Amino acid sequence: MAEGSRNKLVIMVILSTMLLVLFLLALHYVRGIQKLLYAEAKENISEIATQGAGRFTDAIQIRLGDAQKGALQLAYQCFSDTPDEVLEKRFLTFVENENRSGQCLIYSLAFPDGKAMREDGKLFDMKGELGFQRALEGVSSASEPFYSVYADLRILALYSPVVFGGQVRAVLRVAASIDCVYASFGQSSYRGHGQSYILSKTGRLIAGSASSKSNAPFSNFFDVLFEDLDAEDSVQALFDDMGQGKRGVTTLRLGKNAPAHLICYTPLGLDLDWYFVTIVPKKVILENSREVILRSTVLCGGVILLFFVGVFLFAHERSKNQAYILKLAFVDELTGLPNRNSLMEEKKTFSRKTQQSPYAMVVFDINNFKMVNESFGYKTGDKILCCAASVIEEEVDPDSELRARIGGDHFVLLLRYPNRDRVALEQRLRDLLNEISGMAEQNSLLSGSLSFACGVCPVAQGNLMDNRCYDYADIARKHVKGHSGSLIGFFEEEMLLAMQKEKEIELAMDKALADGEFQVYLQPKIDLQSEKLSGAEALVRWMRPGKGCVEPGFFIPLFERNGFVVKLDYAVMEQVCKQKRAWLDMGVPDQVISVNMSQYHLVHKDFVSTLETIAHKYNIAPETLEIEITESAFYSDAAAYTVMEAIKAAGFKLAMDDFGAGYSTLNMLRRMPLDVLKIDKQFLDESEASERTRTIISSIIHMAQSLGADVICEGVETLRQVEFLKGIGCKLVQGYFYSRPLPLWEFEEKYLGMRRAF
Ligand code: C2E
Ligand code: CA
Ligand code: CA
Repeated sequence: MAEGSRNKLVIMVILSTMLLVLFLLALHYVRGIQKLLYAEAKENISEIATQGAGRFTDAIQIRLGDAQKGALQLAYQCFSDTPDEVLEKRFLTFVENENRSGQCLIYSLAFPDGKAMREDGKLFDMKGELGFQRALEGVSSASEPFYSVYADLRILALYSPVVFGGQVRAVLRVAASIDCVYASFGQSSYRGHGQSYILSKTGRLIAGSASSKSNAPFSNFFDVLFEDLDAEDSVQALFDDMGQGKRGVTTLRLGKNAPAHLICYTPLGLDLDWYFVTIVPKKVILENSREVILRSTVLCGGVILLFFVGVFLFAHERSKNQAYILKLAFVDELTGLPNRNSLMEEKKTFSRKTQQSPYAMVVFDINNFKMVNESFGYKTGDKILCCAASVIEEEVDPDSELRARIGGDHFVLLLRYPNRDRVALEQRLRDLLNEISGMAEQNSLLSGSLSFACGVCPVAQGNLMDNRCYDYADIARKHVKGHSGSLIGFFEEEMLLAMQKEKEIELAMDKALADGEFQVYLQPKIDLQSEKLSGAEALVRWMRPGKGCVEPGFFIPLFERNGFVVKLDYAVMEQVCKQKRAWLDMGVPDQVISVNMSQYHLVHKDFVSTLETIAHKYNIAPETLEIEITESAFYSDAAAYTVMEAIKAAGFKLAMDDFGAGYSTLNMLRRMPLDVLKIDKQFLDESEASERTRTIISSIIHMAQSLGADVICEGVETLRQVEFLKGIGCKLVQGYFYSRPLPLWEFEEKYLGMRRAF
């Protein structure tokens, strides 16, 4: 599984677990709230029951008080001899005066023998009533309720003795409708859903709720009680509690499959052993808490939502950051082209494409880009790279081809190579490179045009992925590097060998320089008129142990590419100065020796001062040293002129080497502070065949001489050439016709008349 999708799976699992945990927490929270609200409801209902019980007890006691008050009043109007009839009359008057509106009270008066008269005058016998008997003993009390046929009501009778002179003269009975008493304080709760009952200890219904919804569905409360499966409360516990006169709250069902109710039972405190019971459907209580739960749920949902919004925002921000990091990792910041990492990644997807149709890997860089940066500034260098990138973006199809800047001025392209048509691909590349150069020129980034070194390697089986394809294209690039103008090289096997050789040379060069393996040979310069020595050119040779003498053509181009030429040139300069010093010390006539200096020195600020230091070290007059710089360096840029002027200013002679090999114009010579113009061998070779070339050489010589510069022709090999040159007034020559470059001892012997000491 890919790293990315594994990470995604892990994140999904973590998020799902978090969601589950949050959900369980929310559930737990809601349950907690539900429990809390239920506990609160229990307390609330207890409170209602306690208040209800208190009020019912008060109501009964008020009525008992009324009875006692009546009995007292009657007792006041009574004497020991007051006849029963008078007492009866007074009783009737008392009843009439009593304000009993809405109290549902019926008064009766009984004499100790049991004869009794109701307030409506009806006579009856009270003897059998327990309260009457107790009243005769002087105790006020209430009766158990009973049904009165007369009033068609369930009655509670309250008995009070009418005591006169320490004797119970009569008994006053106040019969109160229980329901009326109950209704008088209007016991209702929970928006009419809560019901209250007065029950006996044994569960018998004494009075029902005043509520309109309270049609008591039982005559004995215990008959309808069943345990609620959700609650752990038991019917037995309620029995026990009520049996022992305890109060409590429980949850039971009213009916076998009926809904659960919250039941609160509170003893009334009268000596009647009655209970005030309040019941509220559990559903109602839960409904009450529903809003709170709803709010809590919304709150929890909100929190979960917020959490996930947070997670989403975090993930979004993270993916944005990742995209930014990816961009940093895969996009070249300067040009916006894909970078090396991107190339490596993309190659994987392109490997199949390259098996289906031909592709070629192209690697190119800008010649002398280092010099461009140093001479024109890094900003200009950056702009040139951006020009290259924008042309590449235009010309290279991002879907079917690859393009990347892999660092510095190195660009890599993977281009389609239809029919393996090399000419067509070369043309396409030339157009692309010309376009880059043209764009840089258009934007006035450079005074001249850019040139490129471009290497190509066709993609073959497997070589795209193992990077050989890139390596080979790069070898081809290096192969064409260092030559003037834009060159496109296709990889060939021989380049590999050359490359290996170069590697080997590079490994050996530093030690070779330290060990003195680089030796100076001198090629004499001949004055044509006198045919005598007129100075010499120092030419380096690498004396490789076991490999013999290696000519500079094999290593100088490589050293120019890797920069080692700078060190080598100074070493040659030092050997020359040292030799000159030795000759001077020996009294040998001083000779002007020319030393080749690569154009790569021109970018080094301390170039001229280093030359001066070396000359100074051996106390050599600078005018006896000639600095040869190839023609191509003279048209590079304005900074090169400055350096050449500095060479002149330091007193050295300045020679333009290989004139005629490149694109130098005669016009250019006018602006040059030259002492010597060296005409390239190639020019002389052509002069054999062409009259026109001879004319050109002749006019160059005259023009240079008229500008005050000496002219020397190199590569003079034949007498014909010598005579031709003499004929056109050339003064100095150098070539195999006179001498090859010679080791010092031989030069000394042949030209300085010195004998070798054995
Ligand atoms: P160059 O500066 O143009 O040197 C002249 C080259 O022409 C020398 O080759 C010399 O041996 C060769 N030559 C002279 N007369 C004749 C002739 O009559 N016929 C033919 N066919 N060749 C002739 P060499 O010594 O192999 O040097 C090759 C190049 O290597 C030099 O070309 C120069 O560019 C470079 N080089 C040699 N020594 C140094 C050095 O110390 N520093 C630097 N930077 N370059 C050097
Ligand atoms: Ca030279
Ligand atoms: Ca030359």
